[in-house]
Amino acid sequence: MCGIIGYLGDREAYPIIINGLKKLEYRGYDSSGIAIFYENGYSLCKTKGRVYELEKKIYSCKIKVKGTSGIGHTRWATHGIPDDLNAHPHVSNSNELIMIHNGIIENYYSIKVILLKNGFTFKSETDTEVLVNLIEYVKKENKFSLEEAVRISLNEIVGAYSIAIVDKYNPETIIIAKLGSPLALGINKKEFFIASDPIPFIDYTDNVIYLKDGEMAILKKGEELDLRKILDNHKLNPIIKKLQINLKKIEKGKYKYFMLKEIYEQPKTILDTLRGRLLIPKGIICIDGIESHKDIFINAKSITIVACGTSWHASLIAEYLLEKLARIPVEVEYASEFRYRNPIVKEKDVIIVVSQSGETADTLAALKLAKNKGAFVFGICNVVGSSISRNVDAGAYTHAGPEIGVASTKAFTAQIIIFVLLALKIGKYRLSINDNQYQSLCKELGSVSEKVDHVLKVNQYIKEISKVYYHVNNFLYLGRGINFPVALEGALKLKEISYIHAEGYPAAEMKHGPIALIDKNIPVVIIATKKVCYEKIIGNIQEIKARKGKIIAIVNEGDIQVSMMVDHVIKVPETSEELSPLVTIIPLQLLAYEIAYIRGKNVDQPRNLAKSVTVE
Ligand code: GLU
Repeated sequence: MCGIIGYLGDREAYPIIINGLKKLEYRGYDSSGIAIFYENGYSLCKTKGRVYELEKKIYSCKIKVKGTSGIGHTRWATHGIPDDLNAHPHVSNSNELIMIHNGIIENYYSIKVILLKNGFTFKSETDTEVLVNLIEYVKKENKFSLEEAVRISLNEIVGAYSIAIVDKYNPETIIIAKLGSPLALGINKKEFFIASDPIPFIDYTDNVIYLKDGEMAILKKGEELDLRKILDNHKLNPIIKKLQINLKKIEKGKYKYFMLKEIYEQPKTILDTLRGRLLIPKGIICIDGIESHKDIFINAKSITIVACGTSWHASLIAEYLLEKLARIPVEVEYASEFRYRNPIVKEKDVIIVVSQSGETADTLAALKLAKNKGAFVFGICNVVGSSISRNVDAGAYTHAGPEIGVASTKAFTAQIIIFVLLALKIGKYRLSINDNQYQSLCKELGSVSEKVDHVLKVNQYIKEISKVYYHVNNFLYLGRGINFPVALEGALKLKEISYIHAEGYPAAEMKHGPIALIDKNIPVVIIATKKVCYEKIIGNIQEIKARKGKIIAIVNEGDIQVSMMVDHVIKVPETSEELSPLVTIIPLQLLAYEIAYIRGKNVDQPRNLAKSVTVE
């Protein structure tokens, strides 16, 4: 899930690369490194830790960073611990080839064995160092040019990569290639910007080429781009797109962390997701991707939703929504499981793939698998122009704006909004929802942003609760019905950023195991809003109380019964059952944030995680 970057042109490469790396840290930040090239040589600096630590090292070691071509990397380790040696760029045995890589070389071990037999040695534990040495081996053995050696070597690789490689004797050429991992190439006259996404180079150019899987490009200073197929060296015509990204959105403003800012943005992002799609007075829902494929949704026998992480939780909520409102059976799958079990997908089956970044490797692979089997694939992504959005048959963007905090918040509520719209629209087509129900839900959708805004004001009390429980080792989250996935998501948020173990469970399942954990030391967060099995939840609360568990309940305003029984109460406005996750998740996001904050954790960049999971 690393971020890769490169520059080739007339400007100084270092500032472009170091600033670009900071913008790519959402992809990984356990170590970083750069190589800047000059005639017949290069400066290399790598370090464990964040990009600012790399900057410090470059400064304190007085490393020469003058040069007009260079490459850089911010890592999320897959092979080998995060340390200076495993950090990229990696250098071949002869010191001539320097390479950065995002992805996983799955057959690295068998290649390493062959290289070892041929006298190669390795400084790191990475798969990347194996690839750069394979390229060197192929180059020297066959007296190939670098581009031919790269091409032949990549044809031997199983796995995923986006790479940039330079020969120190020819620093005005960079070769890039892609399979599975993302790679964007910015072009401004005859200068080239390479990056995992276009954000690092939007200040310089808005011309971008998204390399497709199986493509490589030979970038030579001052020359036209040379794009080829890795398989057969076939020359390709590059398709240049115009970037449309609003940079102003990516500021922290008055907030200490992006995650907190993004939690507070939700009243606005919900409106952004609804904008142009819900015309309230008439109750009209417009979603192009559905309208233009109306028959497919009307005739769907079932829908399979494929996602990972938080998007998977939003998909579980969608299962309730689509089954209730559109009366279509829904299956929700983890992308990583779906893609490897030879799933039964038939022609014209409807598959929905969900991913904030639109780059999630497993979801992207599941999408391709479903398409190969002839399914109709609908995508829900936040990042415009992302790989998933480019590969689906139709889709809807969540329009939540850039999400920088690694723990997803506003993208989750935006995904739920899209699913509510989808369920209502399909329900109306299929006549499975009556007009009153449809109109009243449309009306409520229009006011849900105000309710979310209202919930955000309970922050002060959540801070107090966090002070009581920030030191515990375990949390349990319980919910029922459509709020069960909210319990899962609340537990995930806490785990991700505070490193406290937390489990989400359907409240009634507690009796089948987790109840054994409950004692006076375990706080239980329970969603006890009115609509979903309120009486049953009260029973579950009694069971916890009988075992001395501490209870934090999310209840509706005006609630008396639950409020009298529990240790802490967080009140949220009443909504229809279908929309309740949009308000019940807010206090859980805030609780996770406040606890992580008190524990002194880096909320935006939790250990071991990265924003965009582009490895399997
Ligand atoms: N496999 C490489 C490493 O561990 C790249 C990791 C990645 O892209 O996530 O260094």
